[in-house]
Amino acid sequence: MLNPFEKLNCPPKVEDLIKIVLGRLPKISGNTIKDREIRRLIYYDEQVKRYLNFVNSFPRIDNLHPFYKEALEITAGKSIDNIKICLSIINKTSLTASSILKRYINEIRKSDETLANKLMRQAFGRVSSLLRKRKDCIDWIIDLTKNMKKMKSMDPEMPTVIIAGSPNVGKSTLVSKISSAKPEIANYPFTTKEIHVGHFDINEIKVQVIDTPGILDRPMKERNQIERKAINAIKNLNGIIVFLFDISQQSLYSPKEQFDLLREILEFNKNVIIALNKIDSKDEKLYVEVSKMLRENSLNFMEISAENNIGIDELKEEIKKRVLEMIKQ
Ligand code: GDP
Repeated sequence: MLNPFEKLNCPPKVEDLIKIVLGRLPKISGNTIKDREIRRLIYYDEQVKRYLNFVNSFPRIDNLHPFYKEALEITAGKSIDNIKICLSIINKTSLTASSILKRYINEIRKSDETLANKLMRQAFGRVSSLLRKRKDCIDWIIDLTKNMKKMKSMDPEMPTVIIAGSPNVGKSTLVSKISSAKPEIANYPFTTKEIHVGHFDINEIKVQVIDTPGILDRPMKERNQIERKAINAIKNLNGIIVFLFDISQQSLYSPKEQFDLLREILEFNKNVIIALNKIDSKDEKLYVEVSKMLRENSLNFMEISAENNIGIDELKEEIKKRVLEMIKQ
């Protein structure tokens, strides 16, 4: 299942829609004045119906995959109920606007030719002010949808390998090394940073690999609410985690800091492969400390260099094994 918002067409926001209609009206002509004014209102009605179509094609929130449901809530910054209320307001507004326009069209049909233009302007005014009254809701849902559409590359149904670890440990380097195609940069609503998404195949099963900058790289107590929700969302992905330690001289984090992060991640996903990265320029003291900590906690680990392709084939094999096990369950 791909992003259910990706193909959704967004109508213009309220002021833009009114501007479109205003710009078009003078160009609409008819055989008679009445005919012209009726055509103008029919045009407005067609535009208003864009909101109705939009709401009708909006994904059914209760049927959304938990990953997208949560992403929607986080992006909205408000509850799912708020979104549902707004959608139903847009639906109602559009139906009411259409019925006002239909009423005026009938009135123009029955009225004197001299009144037609006045009635058309009245209808235009009433419908425009109705839309403006609901502008907050309509514009908000449109903005929300545009943001959701940007979440292109995540497929929550696809097995996912999540590369985690402190900043600068080599996460994005590893994404590019273990996935065949050049990783795409995806927008993720949980973080201002970019996420790399790569893909590779295991026995014809497509697997996506993502890194997690700004999400899984700092201790829980420092995380804000949005990041905590992001972790929840990641729990909703069909995922295994590759946790990287940086054991090089350039490491920005102490073994304890890196280990504390690992411990937190293990709390919400036990399917973790641990790899000590940058083995090509290892700091002996750091290496000994990290490996001792892991052994004391009965945690197995691999040794790799993402940049220099050391241990990458073995890591891919391990990922393959875990993905196949995960699919079997
Ligand atoms: P991220 O912040 O965890 O995504 O880390 P990056 O992938 O951006 O890598 C951070 C830095 O570490 C970059 O300068 C990489 O070139 C470097 N790096 C990544 N993997 C290795 C490695 O295996 N060996 C060495 N020596 N440097 C690496």
